Amino acid sequence: MSVSPLAGARGFVFDLDGCVWNGNQLNPGALETLAALDRAGQGIAFLTNNSRATGADVLGRLHELGVTFARHALTPLEIIGQVITERWGRSRVLVMGADEMAAVIVAAGHEVIEIERWREASVVAVGNDFDLTYERLTAACRAAARGAPLITPNVDPRLPIEGGDFLPGCGAFVSAVAVVSFAVPVVVGKPEPPLFLMALDRLGLPASAAVMVGDSLKSDIGGAVAVGMRAVLYAPDGARESAPAIAVVRSFAELARLAGLA
Ligand SMILES: [Mg+2]
Repeated sequence: MSVSPLAGARGFVFDLDGCVWNGNQLNPGALETLAALDRAGQGIAFLTNNSRATGADVLGRLHELGVTFARHALTPLEIIGQVITERWGRSRVLVMGADEMAAVIVAAGHEVIEIERWREASVVAVGNDFDLTYERLTAACRAAARGAPLITPNVDPRLPIEGGDFLPGCGAFVSAVAVVSFAVPVVVGKPEPPLFLMALDRLGLPASAAVMVGDSLKSDIGGAVAVGMRAVLYAPDGARESAPAIAVVRSFAELARLAGLA
């Protein structure tokens, strides 16, 4: 009898976009499998690269969608202000991104400046910007080209939504600024380690006892494996590339079976 690759797991960290949900719809079987893991006493945390929502915002959405037992949700907005402080001290930040991202940067003690003042920027923060204007893009590019370091929640190319469609991801926006300014962005979210380590801390688990489940080979699987977690690739259409994941599942029902729940 073979040993399950999830043997000994005491907690699961789930990616959201393209995994637990697409847009405002939970993926088939997600709620049932999450609830079964919760009933089985497994720790559960959610870790998304969302650049437009805080962990509290995400928890609210999970609760509305019926994941009422969700207690831990993390996004890069939890730490972007702190990362700016650690790297560059108190900063004047030009934000090309959502109001939510600007708000957490201000809450961390930084000044967010208007685009007309781009020459004064000491940091450029770029997130997914649903209200992007050419003026804002120009200001961000000029500030970064002038030497202000570039920081971003993530470099994910796409944001999956309902019906198999997608929106341009944060990576599209930060790439635009990077290509113009020749700046190399500092990435706050997955696949970098800090949010994975925070999720483990919330669950009170060592990396060896936790499993990451996500649809991005680079952000989820690569990032989790780098900190010593096991990782399961969620690939409803089948995996196109070989993954360093311990398993590839095509559905949440398959994940439940793998976890010994069904
Ligand atoms: Mg994803």
